[in-house]
Amino acid sequence: MVLFEHHAFDDHEQVAFINDRKTGLQAIIAVHNTHLGPALGGCRMWPYHSSAEALNDVLRLSKGMTYKSALAKLPLGGGKSVIIGNPRNIKSKELMLKMGEFVNSFDGSYIVAEDSGISVEDIQHMEQRTKFVGGTHAYYHYNNEAANGNPAPSTAYGVFVGLQAAVKFKLKSDLQGVTVAIQGLGHVGYRLAEHLYKAGAKLIVTDIYPDNLEKAQSKFAATIVSPDEIYNVQADVFSPCALGAIIDDASLAQLKVAVVAGAANNQLAEERHGLVLLDKGILYAPDYVINAGGVIDIYHQTLTDSSAAKMRQHIENIGDTLGSIFTRADVEQLPTNIVANTMAEEIFKPN
Ligand code: NAD
Repeated sequence: MVLFEHHAFDDHEQVAFINDRKTGLQAIIAVHNTHLGPALGGCRMWPYHSSAEALNDVLRLSKGMTYKSALAKLPLGGGKSVIIGNPRNIKSKELMLKMGEFVNSFDGSYIVAEDSGISVEDIQHMEQRTKFVGGTHAYYHYNNEAANGNPAPSTAYGVFVGLQAAVKFKLKSDLQGVTVAIQGLGHVGYRLAEHLYKAGAKLIVTDIYPDNLEKAQSKFAATIVSPDEIYNVQADVFSPCALGAIIDDASLAQLKVAVVAGAANNQLAEERHGLVLLDKGILYAPDYVINAGGVIDIYHQTLTDSSAAKMRQHIENIGDTLGSIFTRADVEQLPTNIVANTMAEEIFKPN
Protein backbone atom coordinates (compact mmCIF):
# COMPACT_ATOMS: atom_id res chain seq x y z
CA MET A 1 0.00 0.00 0.00
CA VAL A 2 1.36 3.42 -0.91
CA LEU A 3 0.97 6.50 1.27
CA PHE A 4 2.89 9.56 0.11
CA GLU A 5 2.15 8.64 -3.52
CA HIS A 6 -1.52 7.88 -2.79
CA HIS A 7 -3.88 9.91 -5.01
CA ALA A 8 -5.82 11.08 -1.92
CA PHE A 9 -2.66 12.05 -0.01
CA ASP A 10 -2.51 15.84 0.16
CA ASP A 11 0.46 16.78 2.27
CA HIS A 12 -1.22 15.30 5.37
CA GLU A 13 0.71 16.07 8.55
CA GLN A 14 0.32 12.69 10.22
CA VAL A 15 -1.23 9.32 9.39
CA ALA A 16 -1.07 6.52 11.95
CA PHE A 17 -2.27 2.91 11.92
CA ILE A 18 -3.08 0.61 14.82
CA ASN A 19 -3.50 -3.15 14.84
CA ASP A 20 -4.36 -4.33 18.36
CA ARG A 21 -4.55 -8.11 18.53
CA LYS A 22 -6.22 -8.20 21.95
CA THR A 23 -9.30 -6.12 21.08
CA GLY A 24 -9.25 -6.60 17.31
CA LEU A 25 -8.96 -2.85 16.77
CA GLN A 26 -7.71 -1.99 13.31
CA ALA A 27 -7.89 1.73 12.76
CA ILE A 28 -6.30 4.70 11.01
CA ILE A 29 -6.15 8.31 12.18
CA ALA A 30 -5.27 11.00 9.65
CA VAL A 31 -4.46 14.58 10.57
CA HIS A 32 -4.55 16.64 7.42
CA ASN A 33 -3.72 20.11 8.68
CA THR A 34 -3.44 21.86 12.06
CA HIS A 35 -2.44 25.38 11.05
CA LEU A 36 -5.66 26.83 12.47
CA GLY A 37 -5.88 24.54 15.50
CA PRO A 38 -6.32 20.92 16.55
CA ALA A 39 -7.82 18.63 13.93
CA LEU A 40 -11.42 17.88 14.90
CA GLY A 41 -13.12 15.13 12.96
CA GLY A 42 -15.44 12.18 13.37
CA CYS A 43 -14.55 8.55 13.78
CA ARG A 44 -16.25 6.33 11.23
CA MET A 45 -16.68 2.59 11.80
CA TRP A 46 -17.33 0.74 8.58
CA PRO A 47 -16.85 -2.80 7.19
CA TYR A 48 -14.25 -1.66 4.65
CA HIS A 49 -13.33 -4.40 2.19
CA SER A 50 -9.64 -3.57 2.49
CA SER A 51 -7.25 -1.35 4.39
CA ALA A 52 -6.65 0.47 1.07
CA GLU A 53 -10.32 1.46 1.00
CA ALA A 54 -10.13 2.63 4.63
CA LEU A 55 -6.99 4.66 3.92
CA ASN A 56 -8.59 6.32 0.93
CA ASP A 57 -11.61 7.30 3.03
CA VAL A 58 -9.63 8.69 5.95
CA LEU A 59 -7.28 10.71 3.71
CA ARG A 60 -10.17 12.20 1.75
CA LEU A 61 -12.42 12.90 4.75
CA SER A 62 -9.68 14.45 6.91
CA LYS A 63 -8.80 16.87 4.11
CA GLY A 64 -12.49 17.77 3.75
CA MET A 65 -12.60 18.69 7.45
CA THR A 66 -9.74 21.18 7.03
CA TYR A 67 -11.66 23.00 4.30
CA LYS A 68 -14.93 22.84 6.22
CA SER A 69 -13.50 24.21 9.49
CA ALA A 70 -11.58 26.96 7.71
CA LEU A 71 -14.66 28.35 5.97
CA ALA A 72 -16.77 27.86 9.11
CA LYS A 73 -14.31 30.27 10.80
CA LEU A 74 -13.39 27.70 13.43
CA PRO A 75 -9.98 27.62 15.12
CA LEU A 76 -9.67 23.99 14.09
CA GLY A 77 -7.78 21.89 11.61
CA GLY A 78 -8.94 18.79 9.76
CA GLY A 79 -8.68 15.20 10.84
CA LYS A 80 -10.64 11.98 10.73
CA SER A 81 -10.39 8.41 11.95
CA VAL A 82 -11.72 5.13 10.65
CA ILE A 83 -12.16 1.81 12.41
CA ILE A 84 -12.22 -1.17 10.08
CA GLY A 85 -15.05 -3.59 10.86
CA ASN A 86 -18.78 -4.00 11.08
CA PRO A 87 -20.05 -2.05 14.11
CA ARG A 88 -22.80 -4.63 14.59
CA ASN A 89 -20.31 -7.49 14.95
CA ILE A 90 -17.03 -6.37 16.44
CA LYS A 91 -17.83 -3.34 18.58
CA SER A 92 -16.91 -3.65 22.27
CA LYS A 93 -16.14 -1.35 25.17
CA GLU A 94 -12.53 -2.65 25.20
CA LEU A 95 -12.14 -1.78 21.53
CA MET A 96 -13.36 1.78 22.18
CA LEU A 97 -11.03 2.14 25.18
CA LYS A 98 -8.12 1.12 22.96
CA MET A 99 -9.30 3.60 20.32
CA GLY A 100 -9.28 6.24 23.08
CA GLU A 101 -5.62 5.40 23.78
CA PHE A 102 -4.87 5.66 20.06
CA VAL A 103 -6.51 9.10 19.90
CA ASN A 104 -4.59 10.12 23.02
CA SER A 105 -1.28 9.22 21.38
CA PHE A 106 -1.82 12.27 19.13
CA ASP A 107 -1.50 14.43 22.24
CA GLY A 108 -4.34 16.76 21.25
CA SER A 109 -3.52 17.35 17.60
CA TYR A 110 -6.54 15.12 16.80
CA ILE A 111 -9.94 15.48 18.53
CA VAL A 112 -12.37 12.63 17.93
CA ALA A 113 -16.17 12.96 17.53
CA GLU A 114 -19.04 10.80 16.29
CA ASP A 115 -19.60 9.69 12.71
CA SER A 116 -21.32 6.77 10.94
CA GLY A 117 -21.23 3.61 13.02
CA ILE A 118 -20.06 5.40 16.19
CA SER A 119 -22.42 6.49 18.98
CA VAL A 120 -22.08 9.02 21.78
CA GLU A 121 -21.64 6.04 24.13
CA ASP A 122 -18.64 4.85 22.09
CA ILE A 123 -17.04 8.29 22.34
CA GLN A 124 -17.74 8.29 26.08
CA HIS A 125 -15.80 5.02 26.33
CA MET A 126 -12.92 6.60 24.41
CA GLU A 127 -13.14 9.53 26.81
CA GLN A 128 -12.06 7.22 29.65
CA ARG A 129 -8.63 7.11 27.97
CA THR A 130 -8.38 10.57 26.39
CA LYS A 131 -9.66 14.06 27.00
CA PHE A 132 -9.41 14.83 23.29
CA VAL A 133 -13.06 14.11 22.43
CA GLY A 134 -15.87 16.32 21.12
CA GLY A 135 -19.64 15.92 21.15
CA THR A 136 -20.01 14.03 24.45
CA HIS A 137 -21.43 16.95 26.41
CA ALA A 138 -24.24 19.24 25.32
CA TYR A 139 -24.56 22.66 26.95
CA TYR A 140 -26.03 24.84 24.23
CA HIS A 141 -28.85 24.70 21.68
CA TYR A 142 -28.76 27.48 19.08
CA ASN A 143 -32.44 28.22 19.73
CA ASN A 144 -32.28 27.92 23.52
CA GLU A 145 -34.09 24.59 23.55
CA ALA A 146 -32.87 21.67 25.68
CA ALA A 147 -29.46 20.62 24.34
CA ASN A 148 -29.13 16.87 23.78
CA GLY A 149 -25.93 16.76 21.73
CA ASN A 150 -27.61 16.01 18.40
CA PRO A 151 -26.02 18.45 15.90
CA ALA A 152 -28.83 17.99 13.32
CA PRO A 153 -30.89 21.02 14.49
CA SER A 154 -27.82 23.26 14.03
CA THR A 155 -27.04 21.69 10.67
CA ALA A 156 -30.63 22.24 9.53
CA TYR A 157 -30.60 25.86 10.70
CA GLY A 158 -27.31 26.48 8.88
CA VAL A 159 -28.71 24.96 5.69
CA PHE A 160 -31.81 27.14 6.05
CA VAL A 161 -29.72 30.30 6.45
CA GLY A 162 -27.48 29.26 3.54
CA LEU A 163 -30.42 28.42 1.29
CA GLN A 164 -31.92 31.82 2.09
CA ALA A 165 -28.61 33.51 1.09
CA ALA A 166 -28.50 31.53 -2.17
CA VAL A 167 -32.09 32.48 -3.09
CA LYS A 168 -31.40 36.12 -2.25
CA PHE A 169 -28.30 36.09 -4.48
CA LYS A 170 -29.80 34.22 -7.42
CA LEU A 171 -33.48 35.15 -7.38
CA LYS A 172 -33.17 38.50 -5.55
CA SER A 173 -36.01 37.47 -3.27
CA ASP A 174 -36.85 36.13 0.16
CA LEU A 175 -38.34 32.66 0.58
CA GLN A 176 -41.99 33.69 0.38
CA GLY A 177 -43.60 31.63 -2.41
CA VAL A 178 -40.29 30.04 -3.46
CA THR A 179 -40.61 26.31 -4.20
CA VAL A 180 -38.02 24.01 -2.63
CA ALA A 181 -37.68 20.32 -3.55
CA ILE A 182 -36.18 18.40 -0.61
CA GLN A 183 -34.59 14.99 -1.15
CA GLY A 184 -34.60 13.15 2.20
CA LEU A 185 -36.67 14.08 5.26
CA GLY A 186 -34.38 12.68 7.95
CA HIS A 187 -32.89 14.44 10.95
CA VAL A 188 -31.81 17.45 8.90
CA GLY A 189 -34.28 17.43 5.99
CA TYR A 190 -37.39 17.41 8.17
CA ARG A 191 -36.18 20.29 10.33
CA LEU A 192 -35.19 22.22 7.23
CA ALA A 193 -38.71 21.70 5.85
CA GLU A 194 -40.14 23.23 9.01
CA HIS A 195 -37.91 26.34 8.77
CA LEU A 196 -38.78 26.76 5.10
CA TYR A 197 -42.51 26.37 5.71
CA LYS A 198 -42.40 29.03 8.43
CA ALA A 199 -40.56 31.35 6.00
CA GLY A 200 -43.36 30.97 3.44
CA ALA A 201 -41.74 28.52 1.02
CA LYS A 202 -43.70 25.86 -0.87
CA LEU A 203 -42.37 22.34 -0.45
CA ILE A 204 -42.01 19.28 -2.65
CA VAL A 205 -40.57 16.35 -0.70
CA THR A 206 -39.40 12.80 -1.16
CA ASP A 207 -37.97 9.98 0.96
CA ILE A 208 -37.74 6.23 0.74
CA TYR A 209 -39.74 5.90 3.99
CA PRO A 210 -43.26 7.30 4.46
CA ASP A 211 -43.18 8.43 8.13
CA ASN A 212 -41.85 11.97 7.82
CA LEU A 213 -43.38 12.47 4.37
CA GLU A 214 -46.89 12.17 5.75
CA LYS A 215 -46.05 14.47 8.66
CA ALA A 216 -44.63 17.05 6.25
CA GLN A 217 -47.72 16.78 4.07
CA SER A 218 -50.10 17.46 6.94
CA LYS A 219 -47.99 19.99 8.90
CA PHE A 220 -46.24 21.91 6.11
CA ALA A 221 -48.66 21.36 3.20
CA ALA A 222 -45.82 19.62 1.35
CA THR A 223 -46.37 17.83 -1.96
CA ILE A 224 -44.99 14.28 -1.94
CA VAL A 225 -43.24 12.82 -5.00
CA SER A 226 -41.41 9.52 -5.53
CA PRO A 227 -37.59 9.41 -5.12
CA ASP A 228 -37.19 9.14 -8.91
CA GLU A 229 -39.33 12.20 -9.60
CA ILE A 230 -37.52 14.69 -7.34
CA TYR A 231 -34.95 15.83 -9.94
CA ASN A 232 -37.60 16.53 -12.51
CA VAL A 233 -40.05 18.68 -10.56
CA GLN A 234 -40.77 22.34 -11.29
CA ALA A 235 -39.05 24.08 -8.38
CA ASP A 236 -36.74 27.02 -7.68
CA VAL A 237 -34.39 25.15 -5.35
CA PHE A 238 -33.23 21.54 -5.14
CA SER A 239 -32.14 20.63 -1.62
CA PRO A 240 -30.27 17.32 -1.36
CA CYS A 241 -30.55 16.09 2.25
CA ALA A 242 -30.09 12.33 1.81
CA LEU A 243 -27.19 10.96 -0.21
CA GLY A 244 -23.90 12.06 -1.69
CA ALA A 245 -22.92 12.06 -5.39
CA ILE A 246 -26.46 12.94 -6.55
CA ILE A 247 -25.35 15.80 -8.80
CA ASP A 248 -24.23 13.82 -11.83
CA ASP A 249 -24.78 13.87 -15.58
CA ALA A 250 -28.14 12.11 -15.26
CA SER A 251 -29.63 14.39 -12.57
CA LEU A 252 -28.21 17.52 -14.23
CA ALA A 253 -30.05 16.63 -17.41
CA GLN A 254 -33.31 16.74 -15.45
CA LEU A 255 -32.90 19.60 -12.95
CA LYS A 256 -34.96 22.70 -13.74
CA VAL A 257 -34.04 24.66 -10.63
CA ALA A 258 -32.08 27.91 -10.19
CA VAL A 259 -30.34 26.87 -6.95
CA VAL A 260 -28.90 23.69 -5.41
CA ALA A 261 -28.56 24.05 -1.63
CA GLY A 262 -28.78 21.18 0.82
CA ALA A 263 -27.17 19.27 3.68
CA ALA A 264 -25.84 16.12 2.02
CA ASN A 265 -22.08 15.58 2.03
CA ASN A 266 -20.15 15.24 -1.24
CA GLN A 267 -23.07 16.21 -3.46
CA LEU A 268 -21.05 16.51 -6.67
CA ALA A 269 -20.34 13.10 -8.20
CA GLU A 270 -17.19 14.68 -9.66
CA GLU A 271 -15.65 18.14 -9.19
CA ARG A 272 -16.33 18.90 -12.88
CA HIS A 273 -20.08 18.86 -12.15
CA GLY A 274 -19.57 22.23 -10.45
CA LEU A 275 -18.71 23.64 -13.88
CA VAL A 276 -21.74 21.97 -15.45
CA LEU A 277 -23.94 23.64 -12.80
CA LEU A 278 -22.36 27.02 -13.65
CA ASP A 279 -22.89 26.46 -17.38
CA LYS A 280 -26.54 25.63 -16.76
CA GLY A 281 -26.98 28.82 -14.72
CA ILE A 282 -27.65 26.91 -11.49
CA LEU A 283 -26.19 28.46 -8.34
CA TYR A 284 -24.59 25.76 -6.19
CA ALA A 285 -24.07 26.28 -2.44
CA PRO A 286 -20.93 24.18 -1.75
CA ASP A 287 -21.97 21.32 0.54
CA TYR A 288 -19.24 21.58 3.14
CA VAL A 289 -19.92 25.28 3.59
CA ILE A 290 -23.70 25.13 3.91
CA ASN A 291 -23.74 22.02 6.14
CA ALA A 292 -21.18 23.27 8.70
CA GLY A 293 -23.79 24.01 11.38
CA GLY A 294 -23.15 20.60 12.98
CA VAL A 295 -19.40 21.06 13.38
CA ILE A 296 -19.96 24.61 14.65
CA ASP A 297 -22.33 23.12 17.23
CA ILE A 298 -19.80 20.48 18.34
CA TYR A 299 -17.11 23.12 18.64
CA HIS A 300 -19.26 25.36 20.86
CA GLN A 301 -20.05 22.39 23.13
CA THR A 302 -16.30 22.14 23.85
CA LEU A 303 -16.22 25.74 25.15
CA THR A 304 -17.04 26.74 28.68
CA ASP A 305 -17.78 30.35 27.79
CA SER A 306 -20.15 30.02 24.82
CA SER A 307 -23.91 30.58 24.78
CA ALA A 308 -26.94 29.80 22.65
CA ALA A 309 -26.71 33.31 21.17
CA LYS A 310 -23.03 32.95 20.26
CA MET A 311 -23.64 29.58 18.66
CA ARG A 312 -26.58 30.91 16.69
CA GLN A 313 -24.58 33.90 15.46
CA HIS A 314 -21.76 31.60 14.39
CA ILE A 315 -24.18 29.41 12.43
CA GLU A 316 -25.75 32.47 10.80
CA ASN A 317 -22.30 33.47 9.49
CA ILE A 318 -22.73 30.61 7.01
CA GLY A 319 -25.04 32.91 5.04
CA ASP A 320 -22.38 35.64 4.80
CA THR A 321 -19.64 33.17 3.86
CA LEU A 322 -21.79 31.80 1.06
CA GLY A 323 -22.55 35.37 -0.05
CA SER A 324 -18.82 36.06 -0.48
CA ILE A 325 -18.31 32.79 -2.37
CA PHE A 326 -21.20 33.59 -4.73
CA THR A 327 -19.95 37.13 -5.35
CA ARG A 328 -16.38 36.04 -6.08
CA ALA A 329 -17.56 33.17 -8.28
CA ASP A 330 -19.71 35.62 -10.21
CA VAL A 331 -16.88 38.12 -10.69
CA GLU A 332 -14.33 35.46 -11.64
CA GLN A 333 -16.86 33.38 -13.63
CA LEU A 334 -15.76 30.24 -11.81
CA PRO A 335 -17.75 27.39 -10.28
CA THR A 336 -18.63 27.98 -6.62
CA ASN A 337 -17.04 24.67 -5.50
CA ILE A 338 -13.69 25.81 -6.92
CA VAL A 339 -13.98 29.28 -5.38
CA ALA A 340 -14.86 27.78 -1.98
CA ASN A 341 -11.76 25.56 -2.09
CA THR A 342 -9.55 28.53 -2.99
CA MET A 343 -11.02 30.66 -0.21
CA ALA A 344 -10.53 27.85 2.33
CA GLU A 345 -6.89 27.44 1.23
CA GLU A 346 -6.33 31.19 1.60
CA ILE A 347 -7.42 30.79 5.23
CA PHE A 348 -5.64 27.60 6.32
CA LYS A 349 -2.47 27.56 4.23
CA PRO A 350 0.43 29.38 5.89
CA ASN A 351 2.07 32.12 3.79
P1 NAD B 1 -30.74 10.84 8.05
O1 NAD B 1 -30.24 9.46 7.82
O2 NAD B 1 -31.45 11.16 9.31
O3 NAD B 1 -31.69 11.27 6.83
C1 NAD B 1 -31.51 10.90 5.51
C2 NAD B 1 -32.89 10.66 4.93
O4 NAD B 1 -32.73 10.40 3.55
C3 NAD B 1 -33.60 9.46 5.54
O5 NAD B 1 -34.90 9.82 5.93
C4 NAD B 1 -33.60 8.45 4.41
O6 NAD B 1 -34.73 7.60 4.44
C5 NAD B 1 -33.61 9.36 3.19
N1 NAD B 1 -33.14 8.72 1.96
C6 NAD B 1 -32.18 7.76 1.81
N2 NAD B 1 -32.05 7.43 0.52
C7 NAD B 1 -32.91 8.20 -0.16
C8 NAD B 1 -33.24 8.34 -1.54
N3 NAD B 1 -32.65 7.59 -2.48
N4 NAD B 1 -34.18 9.24 -1.90
C9 NAD B 1 -34.79 9.99 -0.96
N5 NAD B 1 -34.54 9.90 0.35
C10 NAD B 1 -33.62 9.03 0.75
O7 NAD B 1 -29.46 11.79 7.86
P2 NAD B 1 -29.31 13.30 8.30
O8 NAD B 1 -28.63 13.37 9.60
O9 NAD B 1 -30.63 14.00 8.10
O10 NAD B 1 -28.28 13.82 7.21
C11 NAD B 1 -28.69 14.05 5.87
C12 NAD B 1 -27.47 14.35 5.00
O11 NAD B 1 -26.78 15.49 5.53
C13 NAD B 1 -26.44 13.23 4.97
O12 NAD B 1 -25.82 13.22 3.70
C14 NAD B 1 -25.42 13.65 6.01
O13 NAD B 1 -24.13 13.11 5.74
C15 NAD B 1 -25.43 15.15 5.83
N6 NAD B 1 -25.03 15.89 7.02
C16 NAD B 1 -25.68 15.72 8.20
C17 NAD B 1 -25.28 16.41 9.34
C18 NAD B 1 -26.00 16.25 10.65
O14 NAD B 1 -25.76 17.06 11.56
N7 NAD B 1 -26.87 15.27 10.81
C19 NAD B 1 -24.19 17.31 9.26
C20 NAD B 1 -23.54 17.50 8.02
C21 NAD B 1 -23.96 16.76 6.91
